Amino acid sequence: MAPPFRNVKGTRDLLPPETALWAAVEGTARRVMKAYGFAEIRTPILEETELFVRSVGETTDIVGKEMYTFQDRKGRSLTLRPEGTAPVVRAYIERRLGERPGSVRLYYIGPYFRYERPQRGRYRQFHQIGAEILGEPGPEADLELLLMLHRLLRELEFEDVEVRLSTLGDESSRAAFAEALREYLEPRADRLGEESRRRLEKNPLRILDTKHPEERQLLAEAPEMSRFLTAASRAHFERVLAGLERLGISHRIDPRLVRGLDYYTHTVFEIAAAGLGAQDAIVGGGRYDRLVADLGGEPVPALGFAIGLDRLLEVLPEAFRHRQRAAPPALVVAAGEVEPMEAVALAEELRDGGVAAIAELSGRSLKAALRAASRQELTTVVILGDEEARRGEVTVRDLRRGEQRSVSRAGLAATLGGSEG
Ligand code: AMP
Repeated sequence: MAPPFRNVKGTRDLLPPETALWAAVEGTARRVMKAYGFAEIRTPILEETELFVRSVGETTDIVGKEMYTFQDRKGRSLTLRPEGTAPVVRAYIERRLGERPGSVRLYYIGPYFRYERPQRGRYRQFHQIGAEILGEPGPEADLELLLMLHRLLRELEFEDVEVRLSTLGDESSRAAFAEALREYLEPRADRLGEESRRRLEKNPLRILDTKHPEERQLLAEAPEMSRFLTAASRAHFERVLAGLERLGISHRIDPRLVRGLDYYTHTVFEIAAAGLGAQDAIVGGGRYDRLVADLGGEPVPALGFAIGLDRLLEVLPEAFRHRQRAAPPALVVAAGEVEPMEAVALAEELRDGGVAAIAELSGRSLKAALRAASRQELTTVVILGDEEARRGEVTVRDLRRGEQRSVSRAGLAATLGGSEG
């Protein structure tokens, strides 16, 4: 019979044992980001719709067609956050985080929502680990973010990743490029689709997002951003590149790298992992020096990134998975006349000794319990029988080897590899 309820399209239930890997990745990220001076921020899942319209940009795909927007009971337009930067900047301004001494380094982990066509590596509820630095103008900050990502991916045992980066320059570089792009595209507008023609008027840079093969061909001949950089913008980018060389981080300049959000300036980057096909970016980020001011704060330079956790987990290297594979809990079974409550008590003693344990609660026979344990891929069963109980001993059965031996109850946790306390 079909179940009466199903999960909403584009959402997923994350189940064990996969959830343990998610927790391990998140734990590794927390540790690494802490080492670079980042602290956690948790913002609400809901924000005013206008926040994303003003920051991500009206002509972007995200705002134009992917947001989960609805009216609440009082008629306010609210949106399930489609990305993490705008909420952090909103909180930074609202909570006056800029008044604290030094620059602000924040990270976050959580779910995000975009109404996209679900496919491998693309979901309507997806998950990101993001980080933002607010109040650092220099290229060394760009470098530190990339260094941190590099370290994190190394700790997750990734070997085959590619850092792709480019620069959008400052406001006047972008404006000059936008103008040149418009001049190039206007006489060729008949080869553009309806959406790109709309963008040509409002925001020509967004046409670079197009996935239409014919438009992409047209864009291949278009002027490149790098020709329009101001001297200061060029210098910023060159210092980022020099830093990557100096610190031995291999990378590739991709002059056609476009990010689907309007707020970026200067350095933009993606990190791609092998094995993901077309949706191969597991990290996206860059600088957004205008955004804080655009959202009503002081002109504070800032930058950040977001890691797509769903995609990262899909290509998480076996070496990291292997390291996380924990021994399954020991199963404690009361046999003969021994009460099941004694199994509960012994399991609790084992946990005191640092050993994961579950007690057999179903009251089935020892034989049935052993059979069920093998099916659950448990490896160790502790049997508490009448004889053993009298001697202060238990039987430890290794299901993989099919061997068993008697062990004193007092030394059991140590035998099973527990750590006291
Ligand atoms: P963005 O916020 O668009 O810069 O995306 C940053 C990263 O989040 C991307 O590189 C992806 O790894 C991930 N991501 C974005 N959208 C989705 C989605 N719909 N499903 C899964 N991952 C996503």
